[in-house]
Amino acid sequence: MSRVNTVLGPIPAEELGLVAVHEHIGYGMPGSELDTKWWKTPEQRYEETVPKLRRFHEYGGGTFVDATGICNGRDVDYYRSLSAKTGVHIVASTGFVGGDTALPFFARASVGYLTEHFVHEITVGIGDTGGRAGIIKVGVSRGGRMTDLDKRIYRAAARAALATGVPILTHLAIDAENAIAIFTEEGLPLDRVLFGHVDDGVNADKTRDTWIAEQGGRIGFDTFGYETELEDPPFWARPRKERLDHFLRFIGQGHLGKVLASADANCSPLGWPGVKGHTVNYIFEDLIPDLRAAGLDEATITTIFVDNPADFLTIQN
Ligand SMILES: [Zn+2]
Repeated sequence: MSRVNTVLGPIPAEELGLVAVHEHIGYGMPGSELDTKWWKTPEQRYEETVPKLRRFHEYGGGTFVDATGICNGRDVDYYRSLSAKTGVHIVASTGFVGGDTALPFFARASVGYLTEHFVHEITVGIGDTGGRAGIIKVGVSRGGRMTDLDKRIYRAAARAALATGVPILTHLAIDAENAIAIFTEEGLPLDRVLFGHVDDGVNADKTRDTWIAEQGGRIGFDTFGYETELEDPPFWARPRKERLDHFLRFIGQGHLGKVLASADANCSPLGWPGVKGHTVNYIFEDLIPDLRAAGLDEATITTIFVDNPADFLTIQN
């Protein structure tokens, strides 16, 4: 049977419904929780997060993939309670957003150690929560080239993906030649990897999305909604139409089966103010209407948000 790990236990892939494949319950840089300026009580976090997940559910959202790495505020007990309260399936990550967000304890770890750690979080659970990771997060550190630590994390992720059947999601798809070399050396089929953030305003021009798809990788247009039109846009924002045109052009090139789309929004940012006016519900309030207006039919929209993510997230035996 096809299965996906959610924080409340494995479910059949057919039950995922519409999937937001790259989102965050709360993302912060390691250590932000120690800065009193940013302390939030559990009640404040709930108040910020529950209405967004409830609305997501009301709109027809089924599954929220939390792409938050090990040191960035991941909190699986909290995710479990949010999922139980809102009815939204939540998939948690093992792995790291990038080598530069791995705390020193992990930064020194060997490939073997990291592999075992990821496998444990996928097969046994994250800490003593009982919740198992359903995806492995990796990423390219600031600077645009993979560091030695990034490469160790990618290699460990490939081994853990092969050992468990859980897929990999990347933060950034720049320097993809190095990433693909590692995955290929380890024997991991590239359709088990979602190369993310091909659409962000900083990296879109430097990302070889078509080449990655031709190698077999999946492609994440997953920063939808970070627009220059926002009141206070972040540095990675991009004009709304430019991103949409990029997405439509990519699909038009025959890559519909390879694309996934998401909003990379934070329900309750940790240690930073977050981006005002942007939530996971951009998918329903803006993106899907934009896709319909551009002429995509319902079957295509279902492929992007239901079928492709189910295929990607299903644990391979
Ligand atoms: Zn993200």
